[in-house]
Amino acid sequence: MLIAAKLLLKFPTPGETLGKETMNIQSLISLIYPPRCPVCFEILDDTKRKVHEKCEKKLIYVKPPVCLRCGKPVYSPLQEYCMDCSRSDAPIDGGTAVWVYTKEMAQSIAKYKYEGKKEYAGFYVDRAVRQCGEWICQRRPDCITAVPLNPRKQRMRGFNQALLIAQGIGKMLNIPVDNELLVRSRYTEPQKNLTPTQRLKNLQKAFGPGKNIRKYKSVLLVDDIYTTGSTAKICSSILKGAGVSYVWILNLCIGSDY
Ligand SMILES: [Zn+2]
Ligand SMILES: [Zn+2]
Repeated sequence: MLIAAKLLLKFPTPGETLGKETMNIQSLISLIYPPRCPVCFEILDDTKRKVHEKCEKKLIYVKPPVCLRCGKPVYSPLQEYCMDCSRSDAPIDGGTAVWVYTKEMAQSIAKYKYEGKKEYAGFYVDRAVRQCGEWICQRRPDCITAVPLNPRKQRMRGFNQALLIAQGIGKMLNIPVDNELLVRSRYTEPQKNLTPTQRLKNLQKAFGPGKNIRKYKSVLLVDDIYTTGSTAKICSSILKGAGVSYVWILNLCIGSDY
């Protein structure tokens, strides 16, 4: 706290310009709220790292073979599509994902979303670009958009977790981000108590076209978690229904077929 107090003394007085002092404010913030590991949630001693090395080793990065449609890891290279994609004809042109949805990532994303740990986005975006950047650039999307949250949830949470990721990726890859392609209007019932058919109906009613939907031909849709893919399928149908020719999807975490 002594160092924090010393830094506090260097705070600019009214009328003084912000320069070097801005650095001090940041140092002070990181002293009071030291960056934490997005996997074990302990303090990161090496502030240049976004995650502990040993913690990152616990995460499973998606690697081939993957489903040609959604990017979910599949058991064999002979398998073109995952179980879900082979059962239904989703209007998605291709997908990629960063991590397999394991317990570690589930906990990390839950803290990010529900406890407002927005700072984890830095780690997620960095690894998403490292893992999927080339794939994204090869698809040449005109813009990146995120699965919208319903307004009530967004108000409660204070941010849209998928949009923050989309913005980070867009900035790093120099691709515009437009979040007015889709809207989420109704408050949907919690999905977990519903049967698969009820879930789909519930979700279908929740999404609609946004005012900029007709502006683009090729769109990358970003979300945090992909399990059965019903959200991605509905969003993609709306985009394609409005004239988007190609819909690509990127998810931070995805289930696996094995
Ligand atoms: Zn850790
Ligand atoms: Zn699939």
